Amino acid sequence: MLDLLYKKSAATGMSWWKKRATEQAKVVAAAQSNPEEALAELKCLIENVSVSHGGESAATLVFGELSRAIGNKKAAKVWLRWAEEKSLLLRGTSIKCQRCQREAWRPVSELGTSIICDGCARPLSHPFEPTSLPFSYRLGESLRRAIEMDSIYHLLVMRAIRVILESGVEKVVGLHPGVDFRNEDGEQLEADVLVAMEGGDLLACEVKHRSTGLKATDIEHSDRLARWLGNPTVLFACGDTDQELAPIFTSAATVGGDVWRRLLTADDWLAPNPNLNLNGRYPGPDVCQPGADVPPRSKLAGDHEAKFADLLLTESL
Ligand SMILES: [Zn+2]
Repeated sequence: MLDLLYKKSAATGMSWWKKRATEQAKVVAAAQSNPEEALAELKCLIENVSVSHGGESAATLVFGELSRAIGNKKAAKVWLRWAEEKSLLLRGTSIKCQRCQREAWRPVSELGTSIICDGCARPLSHPFEPTSLPFSYRLGESLRRAIEMDSIYHLLVMRAIRVILESGVEKVVGLHPGVDFRNEDGEQLEADVLVAMEGGDLLACEVKHRSTGLKATDIEHSDRLARWLGNPTVLFACGDTDQELAPIFTSAATVGGDVWRRLLTADDWLAPNPNLNLNGRYPGPDVCQPGADVPPRSKLAGDHEAKFADLLLTESL
């Protein structure tokens, strides 16, 4: 499902992408005089790239694609109804001007009124097929932006953290994406997700789309932030499954010195009831001895999509 949504989002901004690609090409072309500076600039440009920019050409998806992604027609209907209610997807249809052949997608809210063609600025006389009105769906702005900024993984991870920690004795009172901290010397560190507990404890989480994106500096910064926060625990989360994890990601958990590093992968956040085995308590020094073995994490055995489809059919969203 995420692959499908990413694919649709990426298809919405090709002109935007070409503009960014041209900017990168210029930097590469200038690399002869100062290769190191050019490489640093190119890396910066690539980091700033988002996969889409929306607009009128937003790609649409149809029920058949959703159904194939979920693997179950009934479950796909349940998910689609939920996604529409939450404005994650907008329902509409494609129309074509008989006069200038301009094709466009319009939301259902506009279909009852006289439709003006984007191409020739005249009313469409026969915008629909005479016998059917095939619906298609466009990503809502909140979902499109979450995918564009890769913050969809922040949200999925936040849900998992909330479920995990709410089973402990201390309650979660806040989950905040992208929180900057600055010390008295002006040094700045960022928590991708910050968890605030009822007792005032703060837990920082580093989130990566792909586990390969975790760098040694990320680990060092997370350790320092954990010390700033006076919390021995830091969480590294990513969009990969356990089988896909990069060596740097798995090895991060095995060495942490005075900081206890925990991992949270797709095997955790895809689980309907994730459980990081925190021994029923929010991680404190008595539970998380630095250097101890990583406790076994919950696994969602088998096919994630099939389990998700079952969940959709058995629980109301
Ligand atoms: Zn027209």
